Amino acid sequence: MANEGSISTAPGCACFRYLDNEEAYPDLDAGGAVERLRAAIRCETVNTDPEKTDFSQFDKLHELMRSSYPHVMEAGTFEIVQHSVLITIPGSDPALKPLLLMAHQDVVPVVAGTEDSWEHPPFEATLDGTFIWGRGSMDIKLMVIGELEAAEYVLAHGKKLQRTLYLAFGEDEETFGTGAKAIVKTLADRGVRLEFLLDESVTVVRDMGLYGAPGTLGIEVELAEKGDTAVKVTVRSEGGHASNPFGGTSLGILSQAISSIVAQPFPIELSPVTEQLLRTLAPYITESPWKELVGPDGSLIEENRDQLARFFASQKTLFPYVTTTCAPTMIEGSSQAPNVMPKDMSAIIDFRSMPGTCVEDVMAHCAEAVKDLPVELSAHLAVNPSSVAVSDGYGFKAVSEVGSRFFKDTVTGAPVLFLPSFTVGGTDAGYYDPVCDTCLRMSPFLLDDDEQARGVHGTNERVTRRSYLHGIRFLIALIEHVCL
Ligand SMILES: [Zn+2]
Repeated sequence: MANEGSISTAPGCACFRYLDNEEAYPDLDAGGAVERLRAAIRCETVNTDPEKTDFSQFDKLHELMRSSYPHVMEAGTFEIVQHSVLITIPGSDPALKPLLLMAHQDVVPVVAGTEDSWEHPPFEATLDGTFIWGRGSMDIKLMVIGELEAAEYVLAHGKKLQRTLYLAFGEDEETFGTGAKAIVKTLADRGVRLEFLLDESVTVVRDMGLYGAPGTLGIEVELAEKGDTAVKVTVRSEGGHASNPFGGTSLGILSQAISSIVAQPFPIELSPVTEQLLRTLAPYITESPWKELVGPDGSLIEENRDQLARFFASQKTLFPYVTTTCAPTMIEGSSQAPNVMPKDMSAIIDFRSMPGTCVEDVMAHCAEAVKDLPVELSAHLAVNPSSVAVSDGYGFKAVSEVGSRFFKDTVTGAPVLFLPSFTVGGTDAGYYDPVCDTCLRMSPFLLDDDEQARGVHGTNERVTRRSYLHGIRFLIALIEHVCL
């Protein structure tokens, strides 16, 4: 189903020009794949509060999987872990470490009050000439169904896997990640060690002008996730009349504590992942000061690390990639009257920590900043950064090689580079460290610029039919490349 609709006449679909090799696998059941994605969207797998979740919607999705992919079901085992899904399709060569393709079944709710802003009802999965609409179409039912479609295609063509393939679909990626953790425990108990895994990301083809290489196109493959520590700062006080604030008010002390913490930022540093990104891009960098700091082969990066890091820190888009960020976000307990001092007060400061900086480091950093103040610190939220995936190993190479066959600028012929990067957000992949040292995050379903501009979890979530089918083709090629 190649080239339905042209680049110039499909408004809002700038991403189409980057879809290459759309003629691959011409017998792909495109119509069926679209219908199965629509059926999956109609399963309302919202799961924000497990107490209130309607898990029959997950059962419905599981039934759809069981009934739609006969070759996968015949060759593999289908297990429900909590409400998550683990499918094992064994390969013939036990010496090859398995590949795991993952995604999550849960979707975020439709924000109350925005129901009428949806052009098409969020769980009807409307299909028009260009788009499949609905909650989960993009985040990330298309990857759940796309991975099943790809495995089914390979097996239906009589291909026998040499390398074991796992498909793993969590149930609560958007909230607690308990499904992913349960799957990881299942795999760890079985002694499984993965070669690599592929999980979701917000993937776009980007002009690398951001790094001084305008005109060069890149897709970032994320090797790591930043950590997230929300530090709660509490000041205790009896309150009382404002006419005698002896020793200071809780609000005054809390303000001091916040400003002390903010005034002591974490160091600015170039992470090894960013260094790899610059090394890959080096031959394409043409602009100052990048050119002078990186060198044509990346050989100047080492001596210019600090300067590069400072340059990153001076740009809004790049700033979060060179430091553990510190954002005071909430304050609680203010007095309700001008002449009454507040009682106990607290604030939350949100830290997104660099790979290598753990929750304890953040807590210790804050404790040092407020050591002379009568405040208590606790971790309101404590998520360590993931470890950093291996990028010079087999997994990254496989994804880049297959990726370069499916993504290029079809108008100019320019290639799309696959670049190591990390994400300031988090996915279920972050829980897989115990069974995998190469957790890669990249969605082969190209996000359109318009969809990206609306932001994930927004209103009118949609995916183009073309991008969806293209992602399936990439996944078929990846399974063939890695597992056959
Ligand atoms: Zn997602």
